[in-house]
Amino acid sequence: MTNQKTLAKSIETGGIGLHTGVTVNLKLKPAPAHTGYIFVRTDLDDFEIPASVEYISHCSYATTLLRRGVLLSTCEHLLAALRGTGIDNCFIELDNIEIPIMDGSSENWIELIEQAGTSEQNAPRHFLKIKETVIFEQGDRRMSIEPSDDYRIECTIDFPHPFINRQKFDFTLNDGSFGREIASARTFGFTTEIEMLRKANLALGGSLDNAIVLTPDGMLNKQPLRFADEFVRHKTLDIIGDFALLGMPFLGKIKAEKSGHAVHASLMSKLLKTESAWEIVEGV
Ligand SMILES: [Zn+2]
Repeated sequence: MTNQKTLAKSIETGGIGLHTGVTVNLKLKPAPAHTGYIFVRTDLDDFEIPASVEYISHCSYATTLLRRGVLLSTCEHLLAALRGTGIDNCFIELDNIEIPIMDGSSENWIELIEQAGTSEQNAPRHFLKIKETVIFEQGDRRMSIEPSDDYRIECTIDFPHPFINRQKFDFTLNDGSFGREIASARTFGFTTEIEMLRKANLALGGSLDNAIVLTPDGMLNKQPLRFADEFVRHKTLDIIGDFALLGMPFLGKIKAEKSGHAVHASLMSKLLKTESAWEIVEGV
């Protein structure tokens, strides 16, 4: 039987938001059993936004939550680090609208969580156990979740770029696998998109320090890729972060083909509405 975990102590950091470019200070704090992850806007009288599917607002280039008019943007890389390290309960205090992008991956979050240490709580961990396959399709994008005894993700991407093309990654979440295989994979974007993003007031904090920037036949970053298939690993990271909004780890296998934040949100919403497809179980 696995028990729930929280942080052993609070930790603080700061940075800038990838899309808004704003400066933000952030503190991760221990939380009681059954809290889940709750964002706390300290600049707005400690207004709380639980990390939950019901508060997903939009998800074009990042996942944004909205509760009673209060926004919280780009939550996926931090949530991936929490889920990936087996933290079940955490308060995330911040004084601005967007989670800092750090280096574009989850690596800094993992380091901070390791510095704080974890503390086991006197309550069994809950899992969303998948009983039937649920599929969401939109054009050539396809995502499904099917029964499995583990937390698994099989992710495939296909971009017409010499560094990417078709990449496939098969991930199983177990002790340390997130830190070893996924955490340091950075977000990426294309120079051809940047002007359009900036016009839409997005990627304002983006730079070579927090993203892989791809030109039509290469990349602007001087440092090498961290993995030859860093791109599909980052997409797997995004799936872990978005699916943390289910409020507990799943026992199932996700198959994702050209998915993105909007597809993740659609599959989660369809899954939760299909009540025969899952049950909540305690510890395994
Ligand atoms: Zn991402």
